[in-house]
Amino acid sequence: MLRLEGLTKTYRTGDQALKAIDLSVPPGQVMALIGPSGAGKSTLIRCINRLVEPTAGKVWLGDTELTHLSARALRRARREMGMIFQEYALVERLTVMENVLSGRLGYVGFWRSFTRRFPQTDVDEAFRLLDRVGLLAMADKRADELSGGQRQRVGICRALIQNPKLLLVDEPTASLDPKTSRQIMRLICELCSERGLAAIINIHDVALAQMFVSRVVGLRLGEIAFDGAPTGLTPEV
Ligand code: ADP
Ligand code: ADP
Repeated sequence: MLRLEGLTKTYRTGDQALKAIDLSVPPGQVMALIGPSGAGKSTLIRCINRLVEPTAGKVWLGDTELTHLSARALRRARREMGMIFQEYALVERLTVMENVLSGRLGYVGFWRSFTRRFPQTDVDEAFRLLDRVGLLAMADKRADELSGGQRQRVGICRALIQNPKLLLVDEPTASLDPKTSRQIMRLICELCSERGLAAIINIHDVALAQMFVSRVVGLRLGEIAFDGAPTGLTPEV
């Protein structure tokens, strides 16, 4: 589903955030990306959705190579990548339902959602997703009335209503308590498995990654230091 070839990012400051990363994630695989702060985890995710321009290398999503796309083709490709964020990135004064529907507009320009009208099929799908994550009763609540765990569930629904091929998940539990973190990780992994979705979950909590995923990739100073099953992994990897 996703293939990185020699992916390299050197920032203007001279920081070598990624050094010729080769990595493949097959359809349906949920992969945790771990590593100390500064290892390059955020940069890797941002090079995939091109929020950051790679210095060299290629990013394949299915049969499409992303690093040389026109702006318009890039917008189309981004619709195939669902994003889930640490701080949820909801629009606070919109309702849960409106936040979920905004995912249908793609990653760029979602703030216009409430001025658009959505087909009934989108609304039905939003209700199905909210039901699946246990938030059906909250559909008409404003996002700013929700707890952190509930907000992240809305973020998950917003990503999934895009019907993406790949989920890019950046520290989904960093703002949550341990119990809610486990619930959110379990939910993300179950939904990926139900939908055959590939995912990269950027996570600094190694124990949490170990609980839920079958593959862990450890980054250190922009290089892959570990790639395998999480069994036997020690927290200092
Ligand atoms: P992580 O997500 O693992 O903490 P990052 O991808 O944020 O790692 O950072 C990797 C390296 O790149 C670090 O040395 C960091 O200081 C540097 N870096 C990240 N973003 C920028 C930026 N916008 N400009 C310059 N250097 C950056
Ligand atoms: P996180 O690891 O949670 O992503 P960081 O502190 O690494 O947080 O980064 C916060 C923001 O600052 C990001 O947008 C990142 O790209 C940017 N950044 C990180 N390191 C640098 C750096 N050395 N120079 C410039 N910007 C940086």
